[in-house]
Amino acid sequence: MDNLIEDLDIITDQGDAEACETIQVSKNSDTGKNRKLYIESYGCAMNFSDSEIVSSIMSENGFDTTSIAEEADVIFINTCSIRDKAEQTVRKRLQFFNALKKKQKRPDIMIGVLGCMAERLKSNLLDEEKIVDMVVGPDAYRDLPALVAQVDNGERAVNTFLSREETYADISPVRLNSNGVTAFISIMRGCDNMCSFCVVPFTRGRERSRDPHSIINEAKDLFEKGYREVTLLGQNVDSYKWSAEINNKAQLEKSEISEVVNFANLLEMVAQVDPMLRVRFSTSHPKDITDEVLYTIKKYDNICNYIHLPVQSGNSRVLEMMNRTYDREWYINRVDAIRRILGEDCGISSDMIAGFCSETESDHKDTLSLMEYVQYDFSYMYYYSERPNTLAEKKYEDDVPLETKKRRLSEIITKQQETSLNRNKRDLGLVHQVLIEGASKRSEDRLQGRNSANKVIIFEGKGHKKGEYVDVLVEECTPATLLGSIVEGGTHKC
Ligand code: SF4
Repeated sequence: MDNLIEDLDIITDQGDAEACETIQVSKNSDTGKNRKLYIESYGCAMNFSDSEIVSSIMSENGFDTTSIAEEADVIFINTCSIRDKAEQTVRKRLQFFNALKKKQKRPDIMIGVLGCMAERLKSNLLDEEKIVDMVVGPDAYRDLPALVAQVDNGERAVNTFLSREETYADISPVRLNSNGVTAFISIMRGCDNMCSFCVVPFTRGRERSRDPHSIINEAKDLFEKGYREVTLLGQNVDSYKWSAEINNKAQLEKSEISEVVNFANLLEMVAQVDPMLRVRFSTSHPKDITDEVLYTIKKYDNICNYIHLPVQSGNSRVLEMMNRTYDREWYINRVDAIRRILGEDCGISSDMIAGFCSETESDHKDTLSLMEYVQYDFSYMYYYSERPNTLAEKKYEDDVPLETKKRRLSEIITKQQETSLNRNKRDLGLVHQVLIEGASKRSEDRLQGRNSANKVIIFEGKGHKKGEYVDVLVEECTPATLLGSIVEGGTHKC
């Protein structure tokens, strides 16, 4: 088992402060179209899913995708704006593409900035970054072909209109860099919560839910293509609400309409596509997650026993300043409901922010004690980064010194490493059903996949291939990974 150790450090960076720097690059697709598109995507799964929508729209308008920027006629950067660092990364990439255009003697390469940073800065980005030809917000991707034509005519182009209806439901995504086994399906867009530290409501607009039938069709299509797991995506999946009459949430809530599809209903509909199709979802919100959703997870073996439930802080006073609309007691009540209905094995992960405005040492201790109580499997952990035009920037002083923020963050990371290891030790000697996602990152003869609780498992996999379900006996673990061997025909825990 020791030689498996070297496979581990790739995964241990899950949950450290740089998670928002995750990047995805378009793949090569040569179908003989005239022009080439290169897309670089940053940030969250929602952005990756959007880049697949963008690729689909562009492929309908004469573009193949490429994984080599030098080959491209058009370069898109799909950006994240959740932290200042994410935007600094984009500005550095723009300098890189500027140098690339000069080196390649290709002044004609078109540069477009998409996503949350585009929406936040709008046309100001054209003034700040002269290399940028177009700025396009998350709800304006249908307009891309017209905007490209505008730039082809020598103009610069901007469209950052935020919609109350747009869900791109009728556009089938072009899977970028997919392992062919797992895929994201976006079920809604925008967010109506106004957490005081967050830019998302300003960069992605009001909530709107996608037609469930188009979601089911996408899941069926993916299953027929060999995918065996879908993750339903939304900023706050628990407030998914759709009706055939009105798909404008504000109007729907004012209406008498009772025929509404809520998140528990949608989960059940996706689970019924095929028992061999695993269903995951992200992100849940503590104020909206219902027992109905938990009982639906319990009812279907193929709905994974895992919930991402961001808490952000363990202190009620800080949660109120964050405008999270729940307090420590409410959050614990939700965790207790998860443990009661789905058992101790249900995987729970979270988001943590260290050093929010006016956070005291004892407030910070409340976060550590809540982590001790919940025993998270893993978390995404950051220190507070003030964002322009957010409620917090307007109302509160960013008064926790950077050194204190960093020290508190490292204490949270240490606590998380501790609880992750405790949680993984519980799996030693158990057999888990694992969906193989591919070769482990360090060696072709080893395979990796995840169990229902979203834990990464690495094992020897001779004779098995991705997309298969296998039973794996867990023999060793680290804070981030389980290690084991395949058990042919063993009894298993789904
Ligand atoms: S729930 Fe809060 S943190 Fe999450 S996207 Fe919405 S506003 Fe941002």
